[in-house]
Amino acid sequence: MIKIIGTLTLKKGKDQSIKRFHPWVFSGAVDVIEGPIKDGDWVCVQDINKKPLGYGHFHQGTIAVRVLHFMPTPPEQNFYFEKIKSALIQREAIGLPSTNTNAYRLVHGEGDGLSGLIIDFYNGVAVVQAHSVGMALESKKIVEALKEVLSSSLNSVYFKSPSAHKTGEEDGYLHGMSAIPHIINEHGYKFYVDWESGQKTGFFLDQRENRNLLSQFSKGKKVLNTFCYTGGFSIYALQAGAGEVHSVDASEKAIDLTRKNLELNGFANEQNPSFAIDTFEFLKDKKDQYDVIILDPPAFAKHKSAKHQAMKGYQRLNAEAFRVIKSGGIIFTFSCSQVVSRQLFYDTIVSAAIQSGRNIKVLHHLTQPGDHPVSIYHPEGEYLKGLVVYVE
Ligand code: SAH
Repeated sequence: MIKIIGTLTLKKGKDQSIKRFHPWVFSGAVDVIEGPIKDGDWVCVQDINKKPLGYGHFHQGTIAVRVLHFMPTPPEQNFYFEKIKSALIQREAIGLPSTNTNAYRLVHGEGDGLSGLIIDFYNGVAVVQAHSVGMALESKKIVEALKEVLSSSLNSVYFKSPSAHKTGEEDGYLHGMSAIPHIINEHGYKFYVDWESGQKTGFFLDQRENRNLLSQFSKGKKVLNTFCYTGGFSIYALQAGAGEVHSVDASEKAIDLTRKNLELNGFANEQNPSFAIDTFEFLKDKKDQYDVIILDPPAFAKHKSAKHQAMKGYQRLNAEAFRVIKSGGIIFTFSCSQVVSRQLFYDTIVSAAIQSGRNIKVLHHLTQPGDHPVSIYHPEGEYLKGLVVYVE
């Protein structure tokens, strides 16, 4: 069994959420803390009558415990193996990996019962991101579990922790070796992925199905891909026969990656320029030039407090796209801010539409793919929202 360092007793009536399998125990719900607990330790969470309700990683902060095991007895030593194995079985159930797609998210935090842990698999390389101290401290156990679950399909494991949860452990390979440049296949298209110095784990796997949908709208079209990062949407549009694709990102490094990916797929020419520039700046003097526009900005709101400002940002960005798009054009618009609900995002697009005065129809509601699952008990896990709209 896993060693449990301390116990947190919940206040009376504050045990409803954990009984409904919600993995976050907020500090305000905790009555008493017992034991020599440090950040990242395993703790037991019990109700006011000392009945154990679950076990998870402790952290001094708003979320006091990320519950990982909703049982009256502590988890067994093979805990990570069992969880990662279940995650893999679910990926296999949705056809991942496949002959065309060898990159997918293997562990999606709460969606896989592993709050604080993200694992993306890039054609033999697992990139592990710990979003909690508990997960960072258990990186070695996680690597052992990965080796066991993935066996010969695993070449190396790269550990990459966001700065907020550094535990003294350096980012680097915990198994195997570097394999740069590393190329993945997604729906048969090739992409360079740089997990060592790229954003997040190196590639936005969550847009895979939405990129595929773009193919339907791209033939013979002039496409603008804003916030393009590695040029994912650009490559899909070109493979589907787009006449011209312009890619925009504020980061020079991202534009370098886009250019590399255009080259890798045989599309590096003057019809498909890439611009290292702010999207708002780029759109300023444009009008009636594009048939299709993709808007996939970073999370404008990372916390609830930033929500109002973020909504203004989404409204302004979408109003600009509605101003610029040709008549009969299509816009793919997204928000990946977890704190912005689907309804709020929709309302913001409505408000940008009203501002434009144009006739706009909603064609599709988009979300994250099945390798980014949402636990039914943790609706906060649905973070990616998108709309495809037609502008008359
Ligand atoms: N669409 C991409 C992912 C986008 S991530 C994909 O499918 O892979 C968001 C990107 O927006 C980042 O690359 C970041 O560099 C870029 N970015 C952030 N602010 C920006 C701005 N104001 N203008 C243009 N790009 C911006």
